Amino acid sequence: MWRDCLKLQDELVKMRRELHRIPETGLILPLTREYVENKLKEYGISYTENKTDSGLVAIIKGEKGTGRTVALRADMDALPVNEGIESDYKSLHEGKMHACGHDAHMAMLLGAAKVLQEHRAELCGTVKLFFQADEEEVLGAKNMISEGCMEGVDAVFGTHIGCIISKDISSGKFVIVPGCIMASNDRFFIKVKGTGCHGSTPEKGVDPINIAAHIIINLQEIIAREVPAVKAAVLTIGKVNAGFAYNVIPSEVEIEGTVRTLDDKVRKNIAARIAEISESTAKTFRGEAECTIEWGVAPVENDEAMAEFAAKCAREILGDDKVITSVPAPNMGAEDFAEYLKLAPGAFMFLSSADHDKHTDEPHHSPLFNIDEDVLWEGSAVFVKIASEFLNA
Ligand SMILES: [Zn+2]
Ligand SMILES: [Zn+2]
Repeated sequence: MWRDCLKLQDELVKMRRELHRIPETGLILPLTREYVENKLKEYGISYTENKTDSGLVAIIKGEKGTGRTVALRADMDALPVNEGIESDYKSLHEGKMHACGHDAHMAMLLGAAKVLQEHRAELCGTVKLFFQADEEEVLGAKNMISEGCMEGVDAVFGTHIGCIISKDISSGKFVIVPGCIMASNDRFFIKVKGTGCHGSTPEKGVDPINIAAHIIINLQEIIAREVPAVKAAVLTIGKVNAGFAYNVIPSEVEIEGTVRTLDDKVRKNIAARIAEISESTAKTFRGEAECTIEWGVAPVENDEAMAEFAAKCAREILGDDKVITSVPAPNMGAEDFAEYLKLAPGAFMFLSSADHDKHTDEPHHSPLFNIDEDVLWEGSAVFVKIASEFLNA
């Protein structure tokens, strides 16, 4: 069945380029959704649209009998980046670009959909195809889930193209690793409240800038002294808003930052300690702190058995030397695919398309990011193999 994907290569490139020209960002992606839906109609595949955003779920029903349900996912959103590469498929939308390869994800999943639909008589069970919006701001998967996409799903798989794990992994290799492979991503806001006054008489007020400085230093002690050395965690404060004149003590300071972890327990502990330390530090110096956590996404936790199964499928197509099943360390970036993995076992896979000679090893989100289109068929073929083997096992 997967061999049909080899014949699809030109069509996959064409779809990827057509999608590359019309990048859209965020939750509402009208042109992208229309493109995907037109292809699904052409293939005779039914789908349901999300009510809250541009996400959609397509369904292929196997005709060999009822059985399990496997879900395959692609994300559809682009980035607010101005494309820096000239080509005849360059972005037509000023200031927007598919700089993370999600155009390729849609093409690969559409290719797999076509093949699976053509072979539906041989399938026992159901394939659900997730086309989600807004991966970059990590709201898309949560929306899909609240619209019910995971109902009845027994396993879920997704692939990210590019050079996320390492640009030294040569193009065409799959990376399928059991366990944690990407980090959580949460955002926190701290409002430090003091009492404004003249800069010459700090004793008449409460200086929130001084308090904020102590909070910023104290929060790093969580990483240094409270997180076990063998558990990776990052706490970064990326934004501080304070003051308006050199000789005025303001009444408020705003602090904003992000926490990345590889373990849900560590993640929850850090969030609790951010609030405790901020509030108590502020109190020590006669001020107040209000802390808010905006929960983003959990770590990407691949199921051991499903990762093993997916790697076996990839090996049967590509050969042993093109499938990597362990890496020196997980990636501290985040992916909202993690949300699906909390509800069903599965695996998030990486398809390398890094080729220095083809200039496809630029970092993700760069205006120069590009993919090696020669590997697109592999993404479709691995999806087809996983879905068919899972359903017919
Ligand atoms: Zn991205
Ligand atoms: Zn991405």
